[in-house]
Amino acid sequence: MSVAQDRQSRAARVRFVLSNTSHPGNIGSAARAMRTMGFGRLDLVAPAAFPHGDAWALAAGAIDVLERARVTPSLAEAVADCTLVIGATARLRGVSLEEWSPREAAGKVLEAAALGHEVAIVFGNERAGLSNDEIMRCQAAVHIPSDPGYSSLNLAQAVQVIAYELRIAQLDGVSARTGNADGAATSAELEGFFDHLAATLDDIDFHKGRSPVTIMRRLRKLFLRARPDQRELRVLRGILADAQRMAQLARRAGG
Ligand code: SAH
Repeated sequence: MSVAQDRQSRAARVRFVLSNTSHPGNIGSAARAMRTMGFGRLDLVAPAAFPHGDAWALAAGAIDVLERARVTPSLAEAVADCTLVIGATARLRGVSLEEWSPREAAGKVLEAAALGHEVAIVFGNERAGLSNDEIMRCQAAVHIPSDPGYSSLNLAQAVQVIAYELRIAQLDGVSARTGNADGAATSAELEGFFDHLAATLDDIDFHKGRSPVTIMRRLRKLFLRARPDQRELRVLRGILADAQRMAQLARRAGG
């Protein structure tokens, strides 16, 4: 599959859901915002007025998105087949959902889409936002870090920001895949390294009564951030093997 096809197939698994939208113009602007970033799946839950001339007027060239938009009576129906549902919220009302930044959310969305999952990002009504019932249908919330004193973006502009982050994450993903072909470590290889590292820290008596869990968590964070490739992992594991060998020699000499 070409890079462009891969991007398209992932985008096809991502749907933008606008719930209880009051102004049809916002639906048109949202369609345009999505289309410019390569997304075309729009679901409308109980829109106040759709189809409507204002939607078509503001969609400009993105009318294909409106023509294909699916209208459903409830959010439950719009997201029934999704394994990941994220609610976009202007503020968090004490809901116990995990909160993601647009960038984090974009990463999770594309990851899920790449695995073949269906994903929805849900946007609320212009005045009331998402209802508590709607929020309960979501697994996580995405919040655009706006000014807390004036946090609410126009609906279509919120769609634009999220669609933009998805676009950027997709473009970044392309270089990550190229990196893989050049020997980027797989998750299994990294886990093998972490096991080896933990065993070595034991062998050299590094912990001395401190919690191995905490130190491993920190080291994992460090190495996951550094993203070592296969060659670098081989060097690191060589060092670990030598440290283990020296520890064994020391034990023998001491015992
Ligand atoms: N007054 C409402 C905001 C409605 S704006 C409230 O306070 O909840 C319409 C929709 O745009 C919201 O439901 C949300 O989906 C999206 N939106 C607006 N601002 C946002 C922000 N800062 N972060 C994430 N989504 C936002």
